[in-house]
Amino acid sequence: MAFRFLAMVFLSAAQRRLFATGVPILTYHSVGPRAAGARDPFLYVPTAQFDAQLARLRSESFQTVSLSEAVAGPEDSARKVVITFDDGCANVFQNALPALAKHQAKAIQFLIAKLIGGKNDWMIKHGDAPETLMDVTQIKEWLAAGHEIGSHTSTHPNLPKLSLAAAREEIAGSKKILEDFFGQPVRHFAYPGGKWNEALRDIVAEAGYETACTTNFGVNPPGAPRHELRRIVPLTRSELIGKSFHRLRRKFRP
Ligand SMILES: [Zn+2]
Repeated sequence: MAFRFLAMVFLSAAQRRLFATGVPILTYHSVGPRAAGARDPFLYVPTAQFDAQLARLRSESFQTVSLSEAVAGPEDSARKVVITFDDGCANVFQNALPALAKHQAKAIQFLIAKLIGGKNDWMIKHGDAPETLMDVTQIKEWLAAGHEIGSHTSTHPNLPKLSLAAAREEIAGSKKILEDFFGQPVRHFAYPGGKWNEALRDIVAEAGYETACTTNFGVNPPGAPRHELRRIVPLTRSELIGKSFHRLRRKFRP
């Protein structure tokens, strides 16, 4: 019953209408229990809820596709959805892989090239809870299970605050590190914290990435700009309300 309830609230009538107008790209970070002291509880999706969301998508005949397929255009009438994970958290490897396999779903994990097997240093320095990031062995298993990897820079900086040369190093350098490590092309990029601008977008395209994901809300109709893809955090209605309050509180009492 609980599963059913959680699944029901994920794909609301409004979400279903929106999903019919373009390819939805879903954003996840962590799957499993929230780490003690985590500043943003909404970065965590309980394992059962993640499983229920995949079940719901499947029951609505959504097919999980790669970002390359998502931007390829509507050559068939399949209902496409893309599942993305930012940051490369080890809890995704531990808790999401079984559900992905169970529902025959494919996903992409955006990795931070210089923090493989490390911690979420960019959050810890702001007092956030530590999270372990996937190591090389886990990433190889992730790839062997049929999933993809993309780049989320080398160190997860605030890209718009860097010089263009430093941003280029983070964007192109991380692609090279990941390709050398795993021996396969890295075609997709996600802007850390969703922070991007036109100059950064051009650097991402010049570096040879086929697509780049922002955190701008929305779906992607045919012909959507490939290096400004929109995404959706699949929160329930009550979570959305909770998140707005959480943001407000943080704003006035950081
Ligand atoms: Zn991130």
